[in-house]
Amino acid sequence: TGWWGGVEPAAKDPILGVTEAFLADPSPNKVNVGVGAYRDDDGKPVVLECVREAERRISGNLTMEYLPMGGSIRMIEETLKLAYGENSELIKDKRIAAVQALSGTGACRLFADFQKRFLPDSQIYIPVPTWSNHHNIWRDAHVPQRTFHYYHPESKGLDFAGLMDDVKNAPNGSFFLLHACAHNPTGVDPSEEQWREISYQFKVKNHFAFFDMAYQGFASGDPERDAKAIRIFLEDGHLIGCAQSYAKNMGLYGQRVGCLSVLCEDEMQAVAVKSQLQQIARPMYSNPPVHGALIVSIILNDPDLKNLWLREVKGMADRIIGMRTALRENLESLGSSLSWEHITNQIGMFCYSGLTAEQVDRLTNEFHIYMTRNGRISMAGVTTGNVSYLANAIHEVTK
Ligand code: PMP
Repeated sequence: TGWWGGVEPAAKDPILGVTEAFLADPSPNKVNVGVGAYRDDDGKPVVLECVREAERRISGNLTMEYLPMGGSIRMIEETLKLAYGENSELIKDKRIAAVQALSGTGACRLFADFQKRFLPDSQIYIPVPTWSNHHNIWRDAHVPQRTFHYYHPESKGLDFAGLMDDVKNAPNGSFFLLHACAHNPTGVDPSEEQWREISYQFKVKNHFAFFDMAYQGFASGDPERDAKAIRIFLEDGHLIGCAQSYAKNMGLYGQRVGCLSVLCEDEMQAVAVKSQLQQIARPMYSNPPVHGALIVSIILNDPDLKNLWLREVKGMADRIIGMRTALRENLESLGSSLSWEHITNQIGMFCYSGLTAEQVDRLTNEFHIYMTRNGRISMAGVTTGNVSYLANAIHEVTK
Protein backbone atom coordinates (compact mmCIF):
# COMPACT_ATOMS: atom_id res chain seq x y z
CA THR A 1 0.00 0.00 0.00
CA GLY A 2 3.00 2.31 0.42
CA TRP A 3 2.97 5.79 1.86
CA TRP A 4 -0.32 6.88 0.39
CA GLY A 5 -2.30 3.66 0.52
CA GLY A 6 -4.77 5.20 2.93
CA VAL A 7 -5.64 8.04 0.59
CA GLU A 8 -9.14 7.79 -0.85
CA PRO A 9 -10.17 9.91 -3.87
CA ALA A 10 -11.66 13.22 -2.76
CA ALA A 11 -15.31 13.96 -3.37
CA LYS A 12 -15.85 15.82 -6.65
CA ASP A 13 -16.35 19.56 -6.29
CA PRO A 14 -20.07 20.16 -6.92
CA ILE A 15 -19.36 23.09 -9.25
CA LEU A 16 -16.08 22.23 -10.98
CA GLY A 17 -17.24 18.60 -11.39
CA VAL A 18 -20.03 19.83 -13.67
CA THR A 19 -17.52 21.35 -16.12
CA GLU A 20 -15.58 18.07 -16.24
CA ALA A 21 -18.74 16.18 -17.13
CA PHE A 22 -19.68 18.81 -19.73
CA LEU A 23 -16.27 18.60 -21.43
CA ALA A 24 -16.53 14.81 -21.62
CA ASP A 25 -19.93 14.92 -23.40
CA PRO A 26 -19.58 14.61 -27.22
CA SER A 27 -23.13 15.85 -27.97
CA PRO A 28 -23.24 18.88 -30.31
CA ASN A 29 -26.29 20.18 -28.40
CA LYS A 30 -24.61 20.30 -25.02
CA VAL A 31 -25.08 23.39 -22.85
CA ASN A 32 -23.00 24.37 -19.83
CA VAL A 33 -24.88 26.51 -17.35
CA GLY A 34 -22.86 25.15 -14.43
CA VAL A 35 -19.84 27.27 -13.66
CA GLY A 36 -20.26 31.01 -13.08
CA ALA A 37 -18.06 32.26 -15.88
CA TYR A 38 -19.28 34.85 -18.37
CA ARG A 39 -19.77 33.87 -22.01
CA ASP A 40 -20.67 36.08 -24.95
CA ASP A 41 -23.77 35.48 -27.05
CA ASP A 42 -21.85 32.90 -29.08
CA GLY A 43 -21.05 30.99 -25.90
CA LYS A 44 -17.38 32.03 -26.06
CA PRO A 45 -15.21 33.15 -23.12
CA VAL A 46 -14.52 36.89 -23.17
CA VAL A 47 -11.36 38.93 -22.73
CA LEU A 48 -12.50 42.51 -22.12
CA GLU A 49 -11.24 45.26 -24.46
CA CYS A 50 -9.91 47.23 -21.48
CA VAL A 51 -7.85 44.19 -20.51
CA ARG A 52 -6.51 43.78 -24.05
CA GLU A 53 -5.45 47.42 -24.04
CA ALA A 54 -3.76 47.03 -20.63
CA GLU A 55 -1.94 43.97 -22.00
CA ARG A 56 -0.69 46.03 -24.98
CA ARG A 57 0.66 48.66 -22.59
CA ILE A 58 2.39 46.01 -20.49
CA SER A 59 3.94 44.08 -23.37
CA GLY A 60 6.88 46.45 -23.92
CA ASN A 61 7.44 46.79 -20.20
CA LEU A 62 7.51 43.30 -18.82
CA THR A 63 8.67 42.76 -15.29
CA MET A 64 8.85 39.47 -13.48
CA GLU A 65 9.96 40.90 -10.14
CA TYR A 66 8.25 39.92 -6.92
CA LEU A 67 5.50 42.16 -5.66
CA PRO A 68 5.75 43.30 -2.03
CA MET A 69 4.35 40.73 0.41
CA GLY A 70 1.05 42.62 0.63
CA GLY A 71 0.78 42.92 -3.16
CA SER A 72 0.51 45.85 -5.54
CA ILE A 73 -0.03 49.12 -3.67
CA ARG A 74 -1.57 50.81 -6.72
CA MET A 75 -3.95 47.97 -7.36
CA ILE A 76 -5.05 47.89 -3.71
CA GLU A 77 -5.62 51.66 -3.63
CA GLU A 78 -7.97 51.55 -6.63
CA THR A 79 -9.66 48.40 -5.38
CA LEU A 80 -10.48 49.97 -2.02
CA LYS A 81 -12.08 52.93 -3.81
CA LEU A 82 -14.48 50.54 -5.54
CA ALA A 83 -15.68 49.09 -2.25
CA TYR A 84 -15.36 52.00 0.20
CA GLY A 85 -16.00 54.91 -2.20
CA GLU A 86 -13.88 57.12 -4.43
CA ASN A 87 -13.52 59.83 -1.77
CA SER A 88 -13.68 57.67 1.31
CA GLU A 89 -12.33 59.29 4.47
CA LEU A 90 -11.48 55.80 5.68
CA ILE A 91 -8.99 55.42 2.84
CA LYS A 92 -7.53 58.91 3.43
CA ASP A 93 -7.20 58.18 7.14
CA LYS A 94 -5.41 54.89 6.32
CA ARG A 95 -7.80 52.96 8.51
CA ILE A 96 -8.12 50.01 6.13
CA ALA A 97 -5.71 47.09 6.37
CA ALA A 98 -5.63 45.66 2.85
CA VAL A 99 -3.59 43.05 1.04
CA GLN A 100 -3.73 41.67 -2.48
CA ALA A 101 -5.23 38.20 -2.34
CA LEU A 102 -5.48 35.16 -4.62
CA SER A 103 -8.81 36.35 -6.00
CA GLY A 104 -11.98 36.17 -3.91
CA THR A 105 -11.31 32.66 -2.66
CA GLY A 106 -7.88 33.60 -1.35
CA ALA A 107 -9.28 36.74 0.28
CA CYS A 108 -11.93 34.72 2.12
CA ARG A 109 -9.38 32.12 3.19
CA LEU A 110 -6.91 34.70 4.42
CA PHE A 111 -9.64 36.31 6.48
CA ALA A 112 -10.79 32.97 7.89
CA ASP A 113 -7.21 32.15 8.96
CA PHE A 114 -6.83 35.62 10.48
CA GLN A 115 -10.10 35.20 12.36
CA LYS A 116 -8.96 31.84 13.74
CA ARG A 117 -5.53 33.13 14.74
CA PHE A 118 -6.70 36.20 16.66
CA LEU A 119 -10.19 35.19 17.80
CA PRO A 120 -9.79 31.42 18.17
CA ASP A 121 -13.16 30.94 19.87
CA SER A 122 -15.18 32.79 17.24
CA GLN A 123 -17.58 31.20 14.77
CA ILE A 124 -18.91 32.26 11.38
CA TYR A 125 -22.58 32.49 10.41
CA ILE A 126 -23.08 31.53 6.77
CA PRO A 127 -26.28 32.01 4.73
CA VAL A 128 -28.40 29.07 3.57
CA PRO A 129 -27.66 28.45 0.83
CA THR A 130 -24.29 29.88 -0.13
CA TRP A 131 -21.44 29.33 -2.58
CA SER A 132 -20.39 25.79 -1.66
CA ASN A 133 -16.72 26.72 -1.27
CA HIS A 134 -17.49 29.03 1.68
CA HIS A 135 -18.04 25.92 3.78
CA ASN A 136 -14.70 24.44 2.72
CA ILE A 137 -12.84 27.68 3.37
CA TRP A 138 -13.96 28.19 6.96
CA ARG A 139 -13.74 24.42 7.62
CA ASP A 140 -10.09 24.31 6.58
CA ALA A 141 -9.41 27.40 8.68
CA HIS A 142 -10.93 25.50 11.65
CA VAL A 143 -13.57 28.15 12.30
CA PRO A 144 -16.83 26.51 13.46
CA GLN A 145 -19.77 27.31 11.19
CA ARG A 146 -23.33 28.21 12.03
CA THR A 147 -25.99 29.06 9.47
CA PHE A 148 -28.60 31.75 9.08
CA HIS A 149 -31.84 31.82 7.09
CA TYR A 150 -31.56 33.55 3.74
CA TYR A 151 -33.56 32.03 0.90
CA HIS A 152 -37.28 31.41 1.02
CA PRO A 153 -38.05 28.41 -1.25
CA GLU A 154 -41.78 29.17 -1.66
CA SER A 155 -41.37 32.79 -2.69
CA LYS A 156 -37.99 32.10 -4.33
CA GLY A 157 -36.96 35.36 -2.70
CA LEU A 158 -35.43 36.53 0.57
CA ASP A 159 -36.48 35.05 3.91
CA PHE A 160 -36.08 38.42 5.56
CA ALA A 161 -37.98 37.54 8.74
CA GLY A 162 -35.93 34.37 9.21
CA LEU A 163 -32.71 36.26 8.54
CA MET A 164 -33.53 38.97 11.06
CA ASP A 165 -34.52 36.41 13.71
CA ASP A 166 -31.20 34.63 13.29
CA VAL A 167 -29.30 37.93 13.50
CA LYS A 168 -31.16 38.78 16.70
CA ASN A 169 -30.72 35.33 18.23
CA ALA A 170 -27.00 34.95 17.50
CA PRO A 171 -24.74 35.68 20.49
CA ASN A 172 -23.62 39.32 20.62
CA GLY A 173 -20.47 39.95 18.63
CA SER A 174 -20.94 37.11 16.12
CA PHE A 175 -19.27 36.98 12.70
CA PHE A 176 -21.57 36.93 9.67
CA LEU A 177 -20.64 36.22 6.07
CA LEU A 178 -22.71 38.45 3.77
CA HIS A 179 -22.72 38.48 -0.03
CA ALA A 180 -22.33 42.17 -0.88
CA CYS A 181 -24.41 41.83 -4.07
CA ALA A 182 -25.66 39.25 -6.57
CA HIS A 183 -25.90 36.46 -4.02
CA ASN A 184 -24.54 33.13 -5.23
CA PRO A 185 -26.37 30.78 -5.85
CA THR A 186 -29.78 32.42 -5.39
CA GLY A 187 -29.60 35.75 -7.23
CA VAL A 188 -31.57 37.18 -4.31
CA ASP A 189 -30.32 40.33 -2.55
CA PRO A 190 -31.89 42.32 0.29
CA SER A 191 -33.41 45.65 -0.80
CA GLU A 192 -31.72 48.86 0.28
CA GLU A 193 -34.28 49.28 3.04
CA GLN A 194 -33.66 45.73 4.24
CA TRP A 195 -29.89 46.30 4.24
CA ARG A 196 -30.49 49.31 6.47
CA GLU A 197 -32.46 47.19 8.90
CA ILE A 198 -29.82 44.46 8.84
CA SER A 199 -27.08 47.03 9.47
CA TYR A 200 -29.09 48.54 12.32
CA GLN A 201 -29.58 45.15 13.96
CA PHE A 202 -25.89 44.31 13.51
CA LYS A 203 -25.16 47.51 15.40
CA VAL A 204 -27.53 46.58 18.22
CA LYS A 205 -25.93 43.13 18.46
CA ASN A 206 -22.37 44.30 17.84
CA HIS A 207 -21.98 41.70 15.07
CA PHE A 208 -19.11 41.73 12.58
CA ALA A 209 -20.01 41.83 8.88
CA PHE A 210 -17.65 40.15 6.44
CA PHE A 211 -18.67 41.03 2.90
CA ASP A 212 -17.79 38.69 0.09
CA MET A 213 -18.06 40.82 -3.07
CA ALA A 214 -17.34 38.53 -6.01
CA TYR A 215 -19.78 40.15 -8.47
CA GLN A 216 -19.47 43.92 -8.09
CA GLY A 217 -21.14 45.34 -11.21
CA PHE A 218 -23.02 42.17 -12.12
CA ALA A 219 -26.11 42.93 -10.04
CA SER A 220 -27.06 46.34 -11.45
CA GLY A 221 -24.50 46.80 -14.21
CA ASP A 222 -22.86 49.54 -12.12
CA PRO A 223 -20.09 48.73 -9.58
CA GLU A 224 -20.91 51.87 -7.62
CA ARG A 225 -24.54 50.88 -7.11
CA ASP A 226 -23.53 47.33 -6.25
CA ALA A 227 -21.44 48.63 -3.34
CA LYS A 228 -24.57 50.02 -1.68
CA ALA A 229 -24.81 47.42 1.08
CA ILE A 230 -21.21 48.05 2.10
CA ARG A 231 -21.72 51.82 2.05
CA ILE A 232 -24.77 51.49 4.31
CA PHE A 233 -22.72 49.53 6.84
CA LEU A 234 -19.94 52.11 6.63
CA GLU A 235 -22.39 54.98 7.20
CA ASP A 236 -23.54 53.18 10.32
CA GLY A 237 -19.98 53.03 11.58
CA HIS A 238 -19.38 49.28 11.29
CA LEU A 239 -15.83 47.96 11.17
CA ILE A 240 -16.27 45.53 8.30
CA GLY A 241 -14.13 43.04 6.44
CA CYS A 242 -14.33 42.67 2.66
CA ALA A 243 -13.22 40.18 0.02
CA GLN A 244 -13.05 41.55 -3.54
CA SER A 245 -12.44 39.67 -6.76
CA TYR A 246 -11.73 40.71 -10.35
CA ALA A 247 -12.52 37.25 -11.68
CA LYS A 248 -15.99 38.12 -12.93
CA ASN A 249 -16.18 41.88 -13.34
CA MET A 250 -12.87 42.14 -15.23
CA GLY A 251 -12.98 38.62 -16.58
CA LEU A 252 -9.61 37.90 -14.94
CA TYR A 253 -10.66 34.47 -13.65
CA GLY A 254 -7.36 32.66 -14.07
CA GLN A 255 -5.19 35.61 -13.03
CA ARG A 256 -6.29 35.21 -9.42
CA VAL A 257 -6.40 38.87 -8.52
CA GLY A 258 -8.38 40.20 -5.60
CA CYS A 259 -8.12 41.99 -2.31
CA LEU A 260 -8.84 41.41 1.36
CA SER A 261 -9.52 44.46 3.49
CA VAL A 262 -10.27 44.89 7.17
CA LEU A 263 -11.49 48.26 8.42
CA CYS A 264 -9.77 49.20 11.68
CA GLU A 265 -10.22 51.72 14.50
CA ASP A 266 -7.24 53.80 13.39
CA GLU A 267 -4.09 53.80 11.28
CA MET A 268 -1.96 52.11 13.93
CA GLN A 269 -4.35 49.18 14.20
CA ALA A 270 -4.51 48.94 10.40
CA VAL A 271 -0.71 48.71 10.19
CA ALA A 272 -0.71 45.91 12.76
CA VAL A 273 -3.53 43.99 11.09
CA LYS A 274 -1.93 44.30 7.64
CA SER A 275 1.38 43.01 8.97
CA GLN A 276 -0.36 39.99 10.45
CA LEU A 277 -2.25 39.27 7.22
CA GLN A 278 1.07 39.31 5.41
CA GLN A 279 2.54 36.97 7.96
CA ILE A 280 -0.26 34.49 7.32
CA ALA A 281 0.36 34.70 3.57
CA ARG A 282 4.17 34.40 3.83
CA PRO A 283 4.44 30.65 4.62
CA MET A 284 1.60 29.78 2.20
CA TYR A 285 2.55 31.58 -1.02
CA SER A 286 4.93 34.33 0.09
CA ASN A 287 3.58 37.04 -2.20
CA PRO A 288 0.78 37.28 -4.74
CA PRO A 289 1.07 37.10 -8.56
CA VAL A 290 2.09 40.23 -10.43
CA HIS A 291 0.45 40.15 -13.84
CA GLY A 292 -3.26 40.41 -13.03
CA ALA A 293 -2.58 43.14 -10.48
CA LEU A 294 -0.74 45.12 -13.14
CA ILE A 295 -3.67 44.79 -15.54
CA VAL A 296 -6.09 46.02 -12.88
CA SER A 297 -3.98 48.98 -11.85
CA ILE A 298 -3.40 50.09 -15.44
CA ILE A 299 -7.14 50.02 -16.14
CA LEU A 300 -8.28 51.72 -12.96
CA ASN A 301 -5.57 54.39 -12.99
CA ASP A 302 -6.49 55.58 -16.48
CA PRO A 303 -9.85 57.43 -16.63
CA ASP A 304 -10.50 56.40 -20.26
CA LEU A 305 -9.72 52.76 -19.63
CA LYS A 306 -11.78 52.79 -16.46
CA ASN A 307 -14.76 54.17 -18.39
CA LEU A 308 -14.29 51.49 -21.01
CA TRP A 309 -14.29 48.90 -18.22
CA LEU A 310 -17.50 50.32 -16.73
CA ARG A 311 -19.18 50.13 -20.14
CA GLU A 312 -18.02 46.55 -20.61
CA VAL A 313 -19.26 45.48 -17.16
CA LYS A 314 -22.63 47.01 -17.97
CA GLY A 315 -22.62 45.19 -21.30
CA MET A 316 -22.12 41.84 -19.58
CA ALA A 317 -24.80 42.56 -16.97
CA ASP A 318 -27.26 43.72 -19.66
CA ARG A 319 -26.75 40.63 -21.80
CA ILE A 320 -27.55 38.46 -18.78
CA ILE A 321 -30.65 40.50 -17.96
CA GLY A 322 -31.79 40.09 -21.56
CA MET A 323 -31.31 36.31 -21.32
CA ARG A 324 -33.42 36.21 -18.14
CA THR A 325 -36.30 37.81 -20.04
CA ALA A 326 -35.80 35.49 -23.00
CA LEU A 327 -35.72 32.34 -20.85
CA ARG A 328 -38.84 33.35 -18.97
CA GLU A 329 -40.73 34.31 -22.13
CA ASN A 330 -39.76 31.06 -23.81
CA LEU A 331 -41.05 29.02 -20.87
CA GLU A 332 -44.28 31.00 -20.74
CA SER A 333 -44.91 30.68 -24.46
CA LEU A 334 -44.42 26.90 -24.22
CA GLY A 335 -47.47 26.98 -21.96
CA SER A 336 -45.71 26.06 -18.72
CA SER A 337 -48.21 26.12 -15.89
CA LEU A 338 -45.50 27.08 -13.37
CA SER A 339 -44.52 30.62 -12.47
CA TRP A 340 -41.14 31.70 -13.85
CA GLU A 341 -41.29 35.24 -12.53
CA HIS A 342 -38.28 34.59 -10.28
CA ILE A 343 -36.04 34.24 -13.34
CA THR A 344 -36.39 37.97 -13.96
CA ASN A 345 -36.74 38.97 -10.29
CA GLN A 346 -33.42 37.41 -9.35
CA ILE A 347 -30.25 39.29 -10.26
CA GLY A 348 -26.57 38.78 -10.95
CA MET A 349 -25.08 35.79 -12.69
CA PHE A 350 -27.37 33.07 -11.39
CA CYS A 351 -30.94 31.93 -11.49
CA TYR A 352 -31.95 29.70 -8.60
CA SER A 353 -34.51 27.91 -10.68
CA GLY A 354 -36.27 25.73 -8.13
CA LEU A 355 -35.52 22.65 -10.28
CA THR A 356 -35.05 19.54 -8.11
CA ALA A 357 -31.92 17.38 -8.20
CA GLU A 358 -33.92 14.73 -10.11
CA GLN A 359 -35.05 17.27 -12.70
CA VAL A 360 -31.45 18.48 -13.10
CA ASP A 361 -30.35 14.87 -13.62
CA ARG A 362 -32.95 14.50 -16.38
CA LEU A 363 -31.77 17.74 -18.02
CA THR A 364 -28.24 16.35 -18.06
CA ASN A 365 -29.03 12.77 -19.07
CA GLU A 366 -31.73 13.46 -21.65
CA PHE A 367 -30.79 16.92 -22.92
CA HIS A 368 -27.01 17.28 -22.29
CA ILE A 369 -27.62 20.37 -20.16
CA TYR A 370 -25.10 20.70 -17.35
CA MET A 371 -25.67 22.54 -14.07
CA THR A 372 -25.27 22.01 -10.34
CA ARG A 373 -27.82 19.71 -8.71
CA ASN A 374 -29.16 22.54 -6.52
CA GLY A 375 -30.93 23.86 -9.62
CA ARG A 376 -28.65 26.85 -10.08
CA ILE A 377 -28.53 28.07 -13.69
CA SER A 378 -25.58 30.25 -14.63
CA MET A 379 -27.37 32.81 -16.80
CA ALA A 380 -23.97 33.81 -18.18
CA GLY A 381 -23.97 30.55 -20.16
CA VAL A 382 -27.38 31.22 -21.78
CA THR A 383 -27.29 32.61 -25.32
CA THR A 384 -29.67 33.61 -28.11
CA GLY A 385 -28.68 30.32 -29.71
CA ASN A 386 -29.43 27.97 -26.81
CA VAL A 387 -32.18 29.70 -24.84
CA SER A 388 -35.11 28.03 -26.61
CA TYR A 389 -33.45 24.61 -26.39
CA LEU A 390 -32.89 25.21 -22.67
CA ALA A 391 -36.45 26.45 -22.09
CA ASN A 392 -37.89 23.49 -23.97
CA ALA A 393 -35.86 21.02 -21.89
CA ILE A 394 -36.82 22.73 -18.62
CA HIS A 395 -40.46 22.63 -19.69
CA GLU A 396 -40.20 18.89 -20.49
CA VAL A 397 -38.77 17.98 -17.06
CA THR A 398 -41.17 20.19 -15.09
CA LYS A 399 -44.42 19.13 -16.79
N1 PMP B 1 -17.35 34.25 -3.52
C1 PMP B 1 -18.41 33.92 -4.24
C2 PMP B 1 -19.76 34.11 -3.67
C3 PMP B 1 -18.24 33.39 -5.52
O1 PMP B 1 -19.31 33.05 -6.23
C4 PMP B 1 -16.95 33.24 -6.04
C5 PMP B 1 -16.72 32.70 -7.41
N2 PMP B 1 -17.42 31.60 -7.79
C6 PMP B 1 -15.88 33.61 -5.24
C7 PMP B 1 -16.11 34.13 -3.99
C8 PMP B 1 -14.45 33.53 -5.60
O2 PMP B 1 -14.07 33.43 -6.89
P1 PMP B 1 -12.57 33.75 -7.28
O3 PMP B 1 -11.71 33.07 -6.25
O4 PMP B 1 -12.42 33.17 -8.62
O5 PMP B 1 -12.43 35.21 -7.22
